Amino acid sequence: MLKGKIALVTGGSRGIGAAVAKKLASLGADIAIIYAGSADAAEAVCSLIRKQYGVSANCYQCNVADYDAGRRTVSQIKSDFGTIDILVNNAGITKDGLIAMMKEDQFDDVIAVNLKGTFNMIKHCTGIFIRQRSGAIINMSSVTGIMGNAGQVNYAASKAGVIGLTKSIARELAPRGITCNAVAPGFIDTDMTKGLQDSPLAASIPLGRMGTAEEVAQAVAYLACASYVTGTVLQVDGGIAM
Ligand code: NAP
Repeated sequence: MLKGKIALVTGGSRGIGAAVAKKLASLGADIAIIYAGSADAAEAVCSLIRKQYGVSANCYQCNVADYDAGRRTVSQIKSDFGTIDILVNNAGITKDGLIAMMKEDQFDDVIAVNLKGTFNMIKHCTGIFIRQRSGAIINMSSVTGIMGNAGQVNYAASKAGVIGLTKSIARELAPRGITCNAVAPGFIDTDMTKGLQDSPLAASIPLGRMGTAEEVAQAVAYLACASYVTGTVLQVDGGIAM
């Protein structure tokens, strides 16, 4: 279904991003992974993808919050793979704290990676997409960006920002044949949610359990293939944000 397509997945070394990279590879896409610091984990994902799915896979260290580093990395990926067809902006961090305790750098760091990082990567890929008159952008938001969450004003603001950015990009780039959508996961079992399994919010999930990274990856794969869907926010949350 995605044979011959090139997918760039940020934050593909672990968790949801690793599951997305594997899912897109299983559909035939060649994969470029961006990671921040986990070189061994990123290489392990690429090596599994090459062996299991027979597609190309390379990983690239890049801080998505760094505009120039993002530009250099996109240019390297284009030179290695020839083009980019699918961009999955999945890299994200949390630095939680109640507003009374939250330090300025906690707010700035989360906005820089989650929101500015998403802008940076879209900005650097847009020229490629416009020239080929096609492209699929999928941004990882969160139900927290829809509902808010005490202790996460920085994260919620970044993820709500991702939704506004997604809809604006969708409107701007639709005439060029480019789609832009967001996925809003709820509680997904990854490193990011370690220790939250027993929180009151987790207990209120209508489907009665946390989600898996693979369940989010299915939604990303759908949006990567959906040629008549743009500007949408697909919730993968067990019903928590109805
Ligand atoms: P995770 O397990 O903590 O993995 C985060 C990934 O992002 C890692 O690959 C990490 O690379 C990469 N990353 C972090 N900062 C980066 C930076 N500055 N530049 C490049 N890469 C960076 O997180 P996850 O749970 O899979 O979450 C993935 C996305 O889904 C995030 O955007 C998160 O906000 C969103 N989300 C998650 C949940 C959930 O319940 N887990 C719910 C809603 C939304 P390294 O391995 O190199 O550090």
